[in-house]
Parts: sequence; C-alpha cells; structure tokens
Amino acid sequence: MTELPDDLLEILACPRCHGPLVAEPASLRCDRCRVRYPVAGGIPVLLTRDAIPLDDVAPA
Ligand SMILES: [Zn+2]
Repeated sequence: MTELPDDLLEILACPRCHGPLVAEPASLRCDRCRVRYPVAGGIPVLLTRDAIPLDDVAPA
C-alpha cells in the first residue's frame, strides 16, 4: 500500500520523462527512467536531483 491517495497518483508524472509512476510503500517508481522518487511524510519528492536509480539496489 502507498501513503498516497489514488486520485493524486493519477495526476502525478515523472518529472524526467512525464511517464506514469508506480506506487510503492515509501516511494514512486518510474519504469521508463528506472528510478525511484522518495515519498516523505506523504509528500512525493518528484525532483530529478533526488531520484534514486533502481540499479543502485543490489539484488539479494
Ligand atoms: Zn521517468
């Protein structure tokens, strides 16, 4: 479950590619850019500066 309401998710877009975002428990993911945007206290931080590359997460 995400902290964000569904209607908010519908209007949010990736700041880099303007593509759709996928809700995760504490972040929003862009599969096109392969990055995550953190959600801090229910507020999505949609800044390319703060984007976290998915490739940084090593597979278990
Ligand atoms: Zn993107």
